[in-house]
Amino acid sequence: MTAPSWASLDAALARWRDAGRTPRLWWRDDDAVEPTAALERLLGLAGGHSAPLSLAVIPEGATSALAERLAGEAGVAVLAHGWSHRNHAPSSQKKQELGPHRPAAEVLAELGAGLRRIETLFGARALPVLVPPWNRIGSEIVPGLAGLGYRVLSVFGPPRPAGLPVLNATVDIMDWHGTRGCRPAAEIVAELVGQLDAGLSSGTPQPIGLLTHHLVHDEAAWAFLDRLLETTGRQDPAWSSADALLRDGCVPAN
Ligand SMILES: [Zn+2]
Repeated sequence: MTAPSWASLDAALARWRDAGRTPRLWWRDDDAVEPTAALERLLGLAGGHSAPLSLAVIPEGATSALAERLAGEAGVAVLAHGWSHRNHAPSSQKKQELGPHRPAAEVLAELGAGLRRIETLFGARALPVLVPPWNRIGSEIVPGLAGLGYRVLSVFGPPRPAGLPVLNATVDIMDWHGTRGCRPAAEIVAELVGQLDAGLSSGTPQPIGLLTHHLVHDEAAWAFLDRLLETTGRQDPAWSSADALLRDGCVPAN
């Protein structure tokens, strides 16, 4: 693997600037339930680089201590990360909390409680965005989400209409199936550059969503994030808040 080509990221961002346009980058970090040393590190990075952060919080386990910790953080939004992050799929299948393994009414009742819980705990920083655990949700669940108050669905990968407006994460820094640490920086940078260039050649570029998982970051992951935020921070404006993207950055429902 060659050294990460941070210059190629600079160049991709410069192409946007030269075109008089601004890419929409956003940052989703998953699985928060309580204050931890890793969360402190995450908040320190985001705050230090003035990067808005969308924290996908697991409603069932979320603590009031987490709400108190986030209370002074101007740039942090909270999204609902399922209800319990419990797997209900058999071991022969990919993990799912929100799949077809239980009656839809049961799943939806939990998701309704989840949104109410994060709104109660986190107030105005709670956004009506559902982040399904493992980025998977049964197609029979989605039609019931709007009635619960959810306005946006956020999974992983190229966004496509899903029956609810979509704001996806599109670049995952972790190597889940190999080292379980950070992917090689050069690979992640190349992916970002590819998505930036695709967006620039598109009339309706989609937001580029960085996906992180603070609880399992190795040192390489933290170092990558610091470098990425530093590199993109030289652009203006570098990162979009989820609030702003909810207004105009979502892929329409249909
Ligand atoms: Zn998760």
